[in-house]
Amino acid sequence: MPNYLLEAETLFPYTQTLRRDFHQHPEIGFQEVRTASIVARELRELGLEVSTGIAETGVVAMLEGERPGPTALLRFDMDALPVTEETGAEYASLTPGVMHACGHDGHTAIGLTVARLLHAHRDELAGTVKLVFQPAEEGLGGAKRMVAEGVLANPRPDLSLALHLWNDKPFGWIGVTPGPAMAASGRFQITITGSGGHGAAPHLTHDPVVAAAQIITALQTIVSRNVRPLDSAVVSVTAIEAGDAFNVIPSTAVLKGTFRTYRPEVEALLKARIEKITAGIAEAMDCTAAIAFWEVTPATVNDPTLASRVQTVAARLFPDADLDTEERTMGSEDMAYMMDDIPGCYFFIGSNNPLAGLDAPHHHPKFDFDERALSRAAGMMAAVTAEFLS
Ligand code: ZN
Ligand code: ZN
Repeated sequence: MPNYLLEAETLFPYTQTLRRDFHQHPEIGFQEVRTASIVARELRELGLEVSTGIAETGVVAMLEGERPGPTALLRFDMDALPVTEETGAEYASLTPGVMHACGHDGHTAIGLTVARLLHAHRDELAGTVKLVFQPAEEGLGGAKRMVAEGVLANPRPDLSLALHLWNDKPFGWIGVTPGPAMAASGRFQITITGSGGHGAAPHLTHDPVVAAAQIITALQTIVSRNVRPLDSAVVSVTAIEAGDAFNVIPSTAVLKGTFRTYRPEVEALLKARIEKITAGIAEAMDCTAAIAFWEVTPATVNDPTLASRVQTVAARLFPDADLDTEERTMGSEDMAYMMDDIPGCYFFIGSNNPLAGLDAPHHHPKFDFDERALSRAAGMMAAVTAEFLS
């Protein structure tokens, strides 16, 4: 097998130039017009068959190996975030209020580098590589839309792969975890209705603010008292909206929040408890409550067999790397929509470097990563793909 890591390192100037260009011109989900046009141009330059405009700005390219074999879907996300950049980098965002604060600029550049690497060795591949450049990963449903628009058909992939540059961990660290790796994520909104009145005459009202306060406190018991201690779950109330005067008790209070789990049974438990606690307290406080739930993404679950082969490739490629097989996060990832249907592996490439000041967390205005991780990620993705198509 070719030394994909060495070849990725040789291509570093290409990868870095693309990454910095994407970084300077960030685009919010479903608006990645400029990014997608560069992606399509680079892929066409390799002579690949390219489809554009999938889920607005998504791009898909087919790379055929010399011999027949399985189809591997490789997914790279392209969107930026509504964050004002504060890195002071020479390649900082030129678009006010928009920033690549999650590293998807890197992912897009990695994807194009992987396309080059695999294209150069297509005579050694048995099978097809379906390169998917996805819009709108950041909570806007890009993957779900791409699935709805047929990205998992014609041809249907046999396996799926994706990665994330990971600033929680240092450059040199690699995370490949069998089973659940990222959580299922849902949102809820609770509307409590009472009857308002004068702030000095609370006995004449049914105060939804006090009911909301008790509901928030009681929701904290779901994870601590209802979820099995060995299961993972989060329930966070993240917004409270009620009233706008010093002396008026409002008629309604609205709570918003998120919940995270790895298993559908735990998700069902969370929802049932949120409903029961809310209804019971609202009733006791002479208020009524309505709850709405929205699923954001399912859990990202790595196929154990695929994950173990990815671990083998990682150990071979990076003999001195810190290979972590336990990394899990309650963050979520919409690649789950593709991996729900197609067995896959989602892995993490450590990218922080505290000595260089590159260790702000994802989504932070000072987020930036050690660019050497770009070559590691591209080399590993190419080597893993070649392994499955060998
Ligand atoms: Zn993100
Ligand atoms: Zn991300």
